[in-house]
Amino acid sequence: MNPVIAGAVMGGLGLVFGSFIAAVSVRLPRDEDIVMARSRCRGCDQPLRPWELVPLFSWLALRGRCARCDTRISRRYPLIELAAAGIGAWAALWGIGGGASLFMIAATAVLGWQLLLIAIVDGENFWLPDILTLPLIATGLVVAMGASWDVAVSHLIGAAAGFGGLWLVGWLYQAVRKRQGLGGGDPFLFAGAGAWVGWVGLPSVLLWACAVGLSLVFAMLVVRRSISATDRLPFGVFLAVGIWLTWLYGPLGL
Ligand SMILES: [Zn+2]
Repeated sequence: MNPVIAGAVMGGLGLVFGSFIAAVSVRLPRDEDIVMARSRCRGCDQPLRPWELVPLFSWLALRGRCARCDTRISRRYPLIELAAAGIGAWAALWGIGGGASLFMIAATAVLGWQLLLIAIVDGENFWLPDILTLPLIATGLVVAMGASWDVAVSHLIGAAAGFGGLWLVGWLYQAVRKRQGLGGGDPFLFAGAGAWVGWVGLPSVLLWACAVGLSLVFAMLVVRRSISATDRLPFGVFLAVGIWLTWLYGPLGL
């Protein structure tokens, strides 16, 4: 398979999924209809015309403003679409470089798009809804079942260990510090990690997550010069990055 063509096809698919991801990430926290509702301008409430739904290009053609009421259209839409396109292209190039099957390339892109949505929702709202984390667990187990019985078992153990492990950490933190350290959704996201990378990959996911989290804390210290123990950090975003890197590049040290 030609990597340029595969990357372009998966990148194009990413634009379409990115447009969906952007819409869901806005609608989910507002408790709006996700699938059936027509996309509307947030300014004049007019439904978008079909060509205005074309990812990225419609935003560029409109120069980021609604054609009717001139309300600014948030930059988050083209940015999320671009990020999803990048994930699709990344999955294609990673798969072709490593000789992965088409199924694995598609699975990788689906993982990346799910993680992108989860990271956006958690980053903006400190919220990991079950409606996003449970499908992550389910898709991981389906992909593992497609590999072999042994893989499926180790990933099922991974999902259980991931959930139990983080649930325990959260419980201990609460018991010792008398305040909630982890969000209620974190154990479900870590179960998703186990479903995708197996129990063997769980330590790597945590290491990556801590590395990303510490880098952010360090960057905040440099920029703001202060950080307090009660500053909230979206741990789900760090876990999402950890899952993605562990899936692509394997458990550290193995
Ligand atoms: Zn408008």
